[in-house]
Amino acid sequence: MLHLVPILGAVASRPTIPIFSHTGQVLSRAVTFQFALDPNVEQRTLLAKCAGARRFTVNHHLARVKANLDARSAERESLSEGGDPLEPSTPSLSWSAFSFINEFNAWKNGESVDSPVNEDGSRGLVWRHELPSDVFECASVDAARALENFAASRRGERSGAAVGFPRFQAKGKVTPSFRLRNRATPGRAPASQPVRFSDPSHLRLPKFGPVKVFGPTRKVRRMIDLGRFHVYSATLTQRAGRWIVSLTGVAAELHQAERSRSNRHAVPVGVDRGIISLCVVADANGAPFERFEGVTTLKQALQSLKAANRALARTTPGSKGRQRARARLAKTHRKVANTRRHLVHQASKTIVDRCQVLVIEDLNVAGMVKNRHLASSISDAAMGELSRQLLYKARWHGVEVRVADRWFPSSKTCSCCGVVRNDLDLSTRTYSCGVCGLVIDRDLNAAINLARWRPKESSAVTLLEPTRALLLSTA
Ligand SMILES: [Zn+2]
Repeated sequence: MLHLVPILGAVASRPTIPIFSHTGQVLSRAVTFQFALDPNVEQRTLLAKCAGARRFTVNHHLARVKANLDARSAERESLSEGGDPLEPSTPSLSWSAFSFINEFNAWKNGESVDSPVNEDGSRGLVWRHELPSDVFECASVDAARALENFAASRRGERSGAAVGFPRFQAKGKVTPSFRLRNRATPGRAPASQPVRFSDPSHLRLPKFGPVKVFGPTRKVRRMIDLGRFHVYSATLTQRAGRWIVSLTGVAAELHQAERSRSNRHAVPVGVDRGIISLCVVADANGAPFERFEGVTTLKQALQSLKAANRALARTTPGSKGRQRARARLAKTHRKVANTRRHLVHQASKTIVDRCQVLVIEDLNVAGMVKNRHLASSISDAAMGELSRQLLYKARWHGVEVRVADRWFPSSKTCSCCGVVRNDLDLSTRTYSCGVCGLVIDRDLNAAINLARWRPKESSAVTLLEPTRALLLSTA
């Protein structure tokens, strides 16, 4: 049996130092909680200023690096004309996050030779004290990371498409966003941390004071109080006019009772993407397990998206009507994404709660041919999100996940006699077997076949651990 998602091994083998909370809990699970915010007028202004400061800081570093690179390459060219292979005399800049933070701090505090000089003769960035200093530091880290990706790509150390020099952040072109770290060691009591819930409906952020949050916060507050969740950082993003906070951090593993539920289905369960339904689940014995609907809801949401797009196309550029149409389109986009996420969360939680072993298809999204059929494209997008959620939730709940290889003909195989039909197209909703006479719903047939899939000895699949990926991206 191939354990793709080791239950404890994944935690033990990770080369990270164990993190303990103030109650002595081991925190090893990367978790993010999201809340929509309801900021007051002053907070809204400050949010916009912080997002602006992030753009400003990133651009500051990019401009310095670009000027340095240009100067060095110009020098190198003039040197090579003389036939002398000397190093340019302009020293290269360090692109590390550490040196970026130091350079920017000195620059904005007026301690550097090229610090800005103000009208009253003082030096440094005038508005620096209005904002949390973390906005600048996190932006410096982001700039360093973007440059590192570019450098790694240039050295040929990065797979995938080549990464160019990072883009300058233009206002109105990038999503307004910034990050604040919760600058507290995990062992400190939650009440003394800079980012904390001051009451059930308010999140306290440095320089902002308590910001009103929408939705129930009981679960996350309880986890923080019990030392089962430690917030590393709060990322604030404005989407379709609304500010959202993402609290990223580390949590304790789920309780043993959650990880080893007694009423779980013992037989492996296959999850197939549906075209009419969101997904169809069946077990290896051929019993239908669950069918998650929802594609109709998504289809309706997508229809309103089309209507909003058409309305935008009819407006005059620069007009008030265009602004309104654009806001409507953004809102509809947000609604479609939220609907999809909600449906998929419900399905993935139910599946993970009720089975012990589950089999999913390997969805190589990058290699997937874009499907023009509306319903299929909805199910493609939802299925990609579903596999992502199933993978991390399965790890949390101690459920084994097997990923069937892409060439496994789950739809074309007869789940009764095993014969493979090669003439099955997407529009055929019912699978009928010419050999044994089985007539079965197409998606159900595929789910049963998936449930019966066994890994070949040689084809060990390694999965990217979501926890590790998240930890790296928030480090
Ligand atoms: Zn058959």
